[in-house]
Amino acid sequence: MDTPKYKRVLIKISGEALAGDKKFGLNFDVIGPVCDVIQRCVEIGTQVGIVVGGGNFWRGVKDGGGKMERSRADHMGMLATTINSLALADALEQRGVDVRVQTAIEMRQIAEPYIRSKATRHLEKGRVVIFGCGTGNPYFSTDTAAALRAAEINADIILLAKNIDGVYDSDPAVNPDAKKYDQLSYMDVLKERLGVMDTTATSLSMDNSIPVLVFALKDPENIYRAVLGEDIGTLVKV
Ligand code: UDP
Repeated sequence: MDTPKYKRVLIKISGEALAGDKKFGLNFDVIGPVCDVIQRCVEIGTQVGIVVGGGNFWRGVKDGGGKMERSRADHMGMLATTINSLALADALEQRGVDVRVQTAIEMRQIAEPYIRSKATRHLEKGRVVIFGCGTGNPYFSTDTAAALRAAEINADIILLAKNIDGVYDSDPAVNPDAKKYDQLSYMDVLKERLGVMDTTATSLSMDNSIPVLVFALKDPENIYRAVLGEDIGTLVKV
């Protein structure tokens, strides 16, 4: 059996990644393979927490900006993250994985409220914990929620599964000569304003010395490779 490099990981999955090519809603052809891999990570003894975005349904600023009050638009975004959390939980349960959803805004009929000690207890018992509703506050992102929950549960690393395979010095979609970094410091990311996470999330993970590995979700096997500590994507550390 493979041995994981990391005992406890926080996987951040963007909402858009769950939508596949349609970029809206949920694509079970994407969710299924991702959950297959997460199941294998659990089977080799990795403790897995997940924060999922909501961009496949609603992003506060992008979709509500100028038309809605910001906080309310963000509340809608947090509800979108909960839809995704429930979909992931269901797919994991179908595979026999023990899973709990905890939300930062109480909705007791459908999920547990977020309680750190309960979350860590679930993780110790080998249950996957999915953190819904981001941080529970408007004006924040799910990247920041990932950095916050990773710090709270003492995760060894944040696995940032994106639709790009690492961090580049310029946008590879625009510049064919864009160079991918294998490793970076948080200071470089902040100084060069590299598009890893937003600055709030970046400084929070930097202050708490939590490394972040950025890689592509397009090949879900990357999650397993990341857990084993293989050289993929871009590693950002202090
Ligand atoms: N959101 C929020 N507070 C949080 C996390 C998320 O208000 O702590 C809202 C915000 O409107 C955001 C939306 O939820 O645009 C969806 O999250 P995000 O944009 O981070 O999702 P992703 O881009 O990862 O799919």
